[in-house]
Amino acid sequence: MLLCYADEPVKPLLLVVGLVLSRVLSAAGSTLPSKPPAPDVFLITIDTLRADHVHCYGYANGSTPALDALAKDGVRFTSAFTPSPITNTSHASILTGLLPGSHGVTDFAVPLASAHPTIAELLKTRGYRTAAFIGAVILDSKSLAPGFDRGFDFYDNFPEHSSTKSRWRRLERRGMDVVSHAENWLAKHPAGPHFLWVHLYDPHDPYEPPAPYARIYKDHLYDGEIAYADSALGHFVGYLKTSGKYQSSLIVVVGDHGEGLGEHREDTHGIYLYDSTTHVPLIVKLADGKRAGTSIAAQVRTVDVAPTLLDLAGAAAPAKSDGESLRVYLSGKADVSRPVFGESDYPLRFGWAPLRSVRKDGFKFIEAPRPELYDLNRDAAELNNQYEASDTRVENSRAMLAELRARETPGDASKDAPQSDTAASVTSLPDPKDKIEEQNLLHAAMVASEDDRPADARKALEKVLEFDPKSPTALRQLGELELQAGDYALAAQHLKNAVDIRPDDAAAALHAGEALAKAHDPAGARDALETSLKRVPGQFQARLLLGNVYLELNDARAAEDQFEAALLLQSENVEAQIGLAKAHISAKNFEDAIQLLIALSKTHGKNNAEIFHLLAKAYSALGKESEAQRAEAKAKLLVGKE
Ligand SMILES: [Zn+2]
Repeated sequence: MLLCYADEPVKPLLLVVGLVLSRVLSAAGSTLPSKPPAPDVFLITIDTLRADHVHCYGYANGSTPALDALAKDGVRFTSAFTPSPITNTSHASILTGLLPGSHGVTDFAVPLASAHPTIAELLKTRGYRTAAFIGAVILDSKSLAPGFDRGFDFYDNFPEHSSTKSRWRRLERRGMDVVSHAENWLAKHPAGPHFLWVHLYDPHDPYEPPAPYARIYKDHLYDGEIAYADSALGHFVGYLKTSGKYQSSLIVVVGDHGEGLGEHREDTHGIYLYDSTTHVPLIVKLADGKRAGTSIAAQVRTVDVAPTLLDLAGAAAPAKSDGESLRVYLSGKADVSRPVFGESDYPLRFGWAPLRSVRKDGFKFIEAPRPELYDLNRDAAELNNQYEASDTRVENSRAMLAELRARETPGDASKDAPQSDTAASVTSLPDPKDKIEEQNLLHAAMVASEDDRPADARKALEKVLEFDPKSPTALRQLGELELQAGDYALAAQHLKNAVDIRPDDAAAALHAGEALAKAHDPAGARDALETSLKRVPGQFQARLLLGNVYLELNDARAAEDQFEAALLLQSENVEAQIGLAKAHISAKNFEDAIQLLIALSKTHGKNNAEIFHLLAKAYSALGKESEAQRAEAKAKLLVGKE
């Protein structure tokens, strides 16, 4: 407590020194007598962390001393649930306090719309210095997590180009890397108050903990990853202690989702909404150190995290929230459970029905083609489905889900996300319960591809096709694999099948076009590329390739159209300009070809013999032999240089 008081008066001064907005300064000045200074806020998310694999949550088979110590200094929520079992969706909910259907980030790479402010944005208006340190490229704001960096002064993205084939530092950062980045940043930016989001990815599969955890946990590597992530957390907390920040700071540790570990036959996570992947640890260490060592059994949600942090930091609450501050529990004034909604649109990516769930009053209802109802008090493992349409719990849950759907209005940026028209989809699409083995294999194939093990990926994908010869995901991935391996005929076959099953998959159609062009089937390539461009017209590569395919088919006019369309997308592109010149020549439009090539020779003529070859051809066609000879001589000179 002493340390706490000694620290606090310094902070307004640091605000001045840090030249933080004068607005904040005057606001702080006017509110200081009644409002305590804003505490440092540290949000630590640990990926893929099942609550029941944490020691202080009763797990005997693993070791989590850092989490246990935080729980001793803070408040431990024993029944906290995420609305989503996938990383980006779940983190978007943690950062905004919104359910997936509200924030719209229902799959990877779907932007977090600016209409939904993050904790970082709202804390910035209170004068916070903000930074985020991520452990996986899937949360990179330049690629798979656009919009997540909003409000952060610094967002620790991955390098754009990485030469290493190892997954470390290309796809993942070890926890110790993440926390050392965070610690270095804090050391360089002493003026607070700080808001840091630190993301530890380690427990996510593949389970490859470093020494000595790989040895100690060789028979249960998932726990080894948790123990390692915990050691990184311990390092970070140690840093906060030695730098004097720990006692007066607000620290929240939360899991983004759990892990199937084979329960309900789900190896990892992402599809189902059972407790195995939705029950997460949530520990809150308060800035005043009150309520240390207590635990709260009431059911709460990870959408409550953002409202709680903002409330306790004295910042404005977002205009719209699906969560509520946990202050009433933290102050010991409430123990009422809150209803938990679960949403999983990830199955849509594979052509399967999305899932919705309600967890309330000791039961869980899961809306699916074959709906489920579990009595959690008697059947915590959710194995005994008691669904009956006339059950009042089912009727009430359905009414709650309908009300939620009516309320959820995601921002514009999520237009491209798979549409989650649950009512319609549920009846017509396969139940994910019938597809989980396929999903396990698809996931294994994805990890194998990431780790540059194409043979393993191929084996897993071929096995998926044994289950379902019409799996568009397996066909597409297998096609892409064969395309890379140079078996163009086989690649074309798989990709064409994928497009037949899912005609709106523009990327599969583009790859089919590439494979067919390489397999010397220009007519087939033309059809595939036209299909792809009908879906997504602005694809530069598809336009360029289609232009060349039309040249091969001796359709000069169509080739001109494609290269011109490509140049509308990238006006300076040399390949598209050369393609257009070729198309002009093929259309006997020599004057236009010469004009284009002369302009091109001035910008790119120094190292491109083809420009002069084509120029010679065009001049020659017009009977301008001396110009043609000069151009040909220039071309020869350049070839000599090459
Ligand atoms: Zn995750």
